[in-house]
This record gives sequence, C-alpha cells and structure tokens, in this order.
Amino acid sequence: MATERTFSIIKPDATRRNLTGAINAVFEKNGLRIVAQKRIQMSQAQAETFYGVHHERPFFKDLVSFMVSGPVVVQVLEGDNAVAKNRELMGATNPANAAEGTIRKLFAESIEANSVHGSDSPENAATEIAYFFAGSEIVG
Ligand code: UDP
Repeated sequence: MATERTFSIIKPDATRRNLTGAINAVFEKNGLRIVAQKRIQMSQAQAETFYGVHHERPFFKDLVSFMVSGPVVVQVLEGDNAVAKNRELMGATNPANAAEGTIRKLFAESIEANSVHGSDSPENAATEIAYFFAGSEIVG
C-alpha cells in the first residue's frame, strides 16, 4: 500500500465542543499520523475559495457562514491509503447515514455541522494541502 497524505479540517462545531483531541484520537488509533496541524480562523474569502466547487449549490452560503463561525483545525494526515482511510473514518456526509463508529456518527450535529472535512481524491488532497500549508510546515 502506498503512503499518502490527505487534508483534514476539524470544523467549528467540533472545536466549539472541545472535540479536537477525541477526533484526532480516532485518526491516530487507525494509523493516520498528523504531520501538520494549525488552529485558524478561516476568512470568508478563504472559505468561499475552499468550497468554490459548491458555489452553485443551495447550501453554499450557509456552509461558508458555518465555516467562519469559529476556529477550525487544518491538518495533514499521512498513512497507507490516507485519502480513502480518512473518508472511511469520517463516515457519510449526513450523520444520519453514517456508519457506527465513524467520526460523523459519533460527533456530527447535522449534515452541515458534520465535524470534519476530508479530501475526496489524492489530487484534491494535494491542492487543499498547498492552499493551507507551506512545505516547510509539514514534518513527516
Ligand atoms: N453540506 C451541507 N448540506 C448538504 C450537503 C453538504 O451543508 O446538503 C456541507 C457539509 O458540511 C459537507 C460540505 O458541505 O461536509 C461539503 O459537501 P460534500 O458533498 O463535499 O461532502 P463531504 O465530502 O464533506 O462528505
């Protein structure tokens, strides 16, 4: 299996409820290593660009407002098949459909306030990592 990197965000609903450590424990217990991490307040412009692919969707405006409603933790996770592994650990977008034991089943409040973001492909992971981190901030 290939060692890979993926991009993760612990969203404002989770930082607000002090769940950063509990969520990262799920990653670490399952073989994903946190090789970069910072707590930031995302700007409106950053959130709009980050979620630009969704800008025609009805939920876009509310999603951007939610993402700037409090601090987030942006991070890079590394491990075997990290992109797919992270998506599996996160669970379905809507917590009502998320499998038992997944982060969204355990912690998400709603389809919007669903605690975590994770890249959906290695290509998007590379783009998203570069959007938030300089190479020198990632220490494997
Ligand atoms: N989202 C939302 N309403 C929806 C679908 C998605 O608010 O009906 C939000 C939710 O926070 C989700 C994000 O938009 O995580 C990005 O949606 P996507 O379909 O890419 O889901 P993900 O890859 O995060 O599971």
